[in-house]
Amino acid sequence: MKRLIAAVMLLLGLSGCASQPAAYTNDFFAMDTFMSVTLYGSTPDGRPADDGTLSDMAESISRTVNRLDAALSRTQTAGDLYRLNHADGAVTEVSAETYEAVRQAVAYAEQTGGAFDPTMAPVTDLWQIGTDQARVPAQAELDEALTHVGYQNVKLLGENRIQLLNGAQIDLGGIGKGFAGDAVCALLQGENGAASWQALAALGGNIVLYGGNPARKDGSWVIGVADPDQTADSLVTLARADGSVVTSGDYERFFEQDGKRYHHIFDPATGYPADTGLRSVTVIDESSTRADAMTTALFVMGLEKGMAFCREQGIAAVFITADKQVVCSPAVSDMAVFSFEGEDKGYTYAQ
Ligand code: ADP
Ligand code: MG
Repeated sequence: MKRLIAAVMLLLGLSGCASQPAAYTNDFFAMDTFMSVTLYGSTPDGRPADDGTLSDMAESISRTVNRLDAALSRTQTAGDLYRLNHADGAVTEVSAETYEAVRQAVAYAEQTGGAFDPTMAPVTDLWQIGTDQARVPAQAELDEALTHVGYQNVKLLGENRIQLLNGAQIDLGGIGKGFAGDAVCALLQGENGAASWQALAALGGNIVLYGGNPARKDGSWVIGVADPDQTADSLVTLARADGSVVTSGDYERFFEQDGKRYHHIFDPATGYPADTGLRSVTVIDESSTRADAMTTALFVMGLEKGMAFCREQGIAAVFITADKQVVCSPAVSDMAVFSFEGEDKGYTYAQ
């Protein structure tokens, strides 16, 4: 009987824990965007982690993201990437972490046939999107900038040494937040005070899910895919316990001129914002870096090419088109519980 009561109390205790977990939230600004991390943790004997343990972990997470921001930014002059970009083509030794970020960026460029290209820096410099100086560059300027673009110009020489040929400069804006997301996961995997962690980290449009949602019975976190015209509303929800959900859209950073929208995802073939009839692409993946690279690449490819690529490579992607369709690649149903909510906003759903 005693045993039974203990078992019931344990169950009650656990279910109490499941319905009212103590969450700790930390908001901060890094990588040019707002970030918010919600954390739950439990000690090795199954009790909720105390506030001090949670705040230490939250602090480690923001420190990690800020460290990567400095290392991978094109503007922070003390960082690795800045040094590499300003080495005039000389062989440059970087940290193992920076080397790994560049290695992955080049690998995704190869995999996507250059739709994702981490050497778009001279092009992004001309457009200045997201600043007060944003403008449409002259064709001659773009032609000149494009002569330096090409991931083949990045030579990974081993032992953390990189050389940039042909005046190339690296811009990791297309995967930086994803790379930070994977670093956050690695941190949560380490023990760091509590036995286990559950977390939802929103690094701008990059969402990292970790360890299951203690507030829901099935452990899933529910992520909304924004309506491009009304970003507080969702057209789709995706539910999953862990992994990453990343969105790239034409509504994140843009300016308008003569009734035309110019956004921040460029087609490496033209140097112009990719104009493929898409409003956004969302990718669900175990790796946040890969998801980030793929959203950018798929946005450049457009729906038809992008969908063929997703089928061939087993990528889970949700495309939102300018003509109000929501289209899913086949792998989405393996990676998340998908729910369409865009009907009353005039969207149709196709698979
Ligand atoms: P966000 O930064 O809004 O999450 P993305 O992940 O799509 O969006 O990254 C866009 C950024 O990536 C741009 O601001 C620019 O720095 C860089 N970029 C633009 N076009 C490309 C491209 N074709 N390949 C790789 N990086 C790109
Ligand atoms: Mg991206």
